[in-house]
Formats: sequence, C-alpha cells, structure tokens
Amino acid sequence: MPSISLEFFPPKTADQRAQFQRSLPRFMAMRPEYASVTFGAGGSTLSYTPETVKQLMAKGLDTAPHLSCMGGTREEITVLLDAYLALGCRRIVALRGDLPSGMARAGDLRYASELVAFIRAHSGHHFRIEVGCYPEVHPQAKDAQADLHHFQAKIDAGANGAITQYFFNADGYFRFVEEVRGLGIEVPIVPGIMPITNFSQLQRFSEQCGAEIPRWITRRMQAFGADTESIRALGADVVAGLCHRLLEGGAPGLHFYTLNRAQATQAVIDRLD
Ligand code: FAD
Repeated sequence: MPSISLEFFPPKTADQRAQFQRSLPRFMAMRPEYASVTFGAGGSTLSYTPETVKQLMAKGLDTAPHLSCMGGTREEITVLLDAYLALGCRRIVALRGDLPSGMARAGDLRYASELVAFIRAHSGHHFRIEVGCYPEVHPQAKDAQADLHHFQAKIDAGANGAITQYFFNADGYFRFVEEVRGLGIEVPIVPGIMPITNFSQLQRFSEQCGAEIPRWITRRMQAFGADTESIRALGADVVAGLCHRLLEGGAPGLHFYTLNRAQATQAVIDRLD
C-alpha cells in the first residue's frame, strides 16, 4: 500500500461527533501515516480543531493541525502554535485560508508564505510544515507562472512538503511537478484525492476552488440521476484509476480529503489493493 494521509474536518454538532466516532475505527484500520484536521479561516473552528487534534493524538495517530492565517492575528496564531506544541504535534499544514462569506477581517499575515516564515520564527524546525499547491492554478492567481513563484516562496520560507488541491486530471499534476522540479524544488508533492460521493455537491465545491471535472465524468454522473449506488461505484472506479496513474508516475503518496466519511475513501483504497 502507498503511504496515505487522511484529512478530516473538526466535527461540531452532536450528530457530526457521533458519526466521526463511528467512522474512526475504519479510518485507523487504513493505517494512515498521519491525519490532518482542517481549520476554518477567521477562527470559525478555533476551538474545534485543537479539540479534534487532541482526540486523534490521544489515539496514537500522528496528527497535523491545519493553520490558516486569513482573519487571524499574530497573537491568535501564537496561542494555537503553543497549544499544538503542548499536544506534542510534529506537523502542521500551513495555509492562507478562505474567509467565510460575509467576514471582512483580513488578518495580520496576508499569504501562506508569511505564515510559514512566522511558524519558523516562532518554533524553529520543530514542525514539519506542509503547504497547499495547485496543479490547475489557484483561482485568484494572476497566472500560472505567478502562482508557481508564490508556491516557491512558501518553500523558500521553510515548508518541507506540499499537498495539492484535488484534481481529476493526472497530466496537470505531472506537468506541475515537472515545473516545480525545474525551479530546483525537491520537496514531496503529494496529490490531494477527493473521493466522489455526492456529485452535485462536488460540482459546487469544484467551481469555488477551481478544480476541473472532466466532461466525460459529468455526463456519466448526470445520467445516473438520483441513483447514488451507481454514482458511488463510478466515483470509486474513476478516483482509484487516477490514484493508480499517479502512483505509477511517481507520486510520493496520497492525501485523502475524507469529509469524515470512511466509506468513499475505503472504496478507493480497496480498489488500489
Ligand atoms: P497562498 O499560498 O497564500 O496563495 C493564495 C493566492 O495568493 C494564490 O493565488 C497565490 O498565487 C497568491 N499569492 C501568494 N503570495 C502572493 C504575493 N506575495 N503576492 C501576490 N499574490 C500572492 N482552507 C481553510 O480555510 N482551512 C483549511 O483547513 C484548508 N485546508 C486546505 C488543505 C489543502 C491541502 C489545500 C490545498 C487547501 C486548503 N484550504 C483550506 C484552502 C486554501 O486555504 C485556499 O485554497 C486558499 O485560497 C489559498 O490558500 P494557500 O495557502 O494556498 O494560499
């Protein structure tokens, strides 16, 4: 099995917590190298993220909190870093974040590269830092070249590795890795994998974050209508096929955006075995 990492969001409601508890044994059985827990920029998951990280660390699962700088002050970021040091965390996923709509506060640090530099200044080389990257280009970037150089700035600031935004086109990933290597950047670039469960939700999400869903997938999914079984089966085939290609082409591992649902990630992993 390739090295995998699993991304969770911190459950907030009683229902979400119960569902997460039920799914955890299945996630643990996938033997991830580590887990990561998202963070709502602007502090919308300020207490939930550390709480979930603590819970996973207590189960012996190496866990990386996500830390996003948008909407936060230096003091708030320092408090979180100190909390993660106290919990024994050795990894962090450092991001700019996206402000929830309607929230105007910009924050003290503008870009993820500034956050990486801030973490290094605060805690030296204690944390292994992963950053985000965009084989299909970040939607707010001026152009692909500018985006690549902004990615380079995060590595120069001290990031040790990167996880991509999810995508369904392996060629874009390989091209991106080639360009990154051309700049002399040697850090691992781990593809972010989005298992497909709810297709209309995936379409909405993909429009916001700039991930392209190939037409052939959309047309086939649309033909299934409300037949969720068929959507899930095709989704698992498509995503497992993508993972195969990525691993064969040299991807160093797979990072699953689980959305806290074990079934869809499991279906992909079963097909990889
Ligand atoms: P940056 O690297 O700061 O880049 C943001 C944009 O600014 C890009 O267009 C870049 O080209 C541009 N830019 C960078 N530096 C400069 C500069 N000096 N001058 C001009 N332009 C510049 N969001 C959350 O809120 N919480 C999460 O937990 C979370 N987890 C994520 C995990 C992964 C693996 C990924 C890939 C994304 C995640 N996101 C999360 C989403 C992420 O926060 C958004 O994609 C966000 O819009 C960009 O974050 P970034 O860290 O890549 O930003």
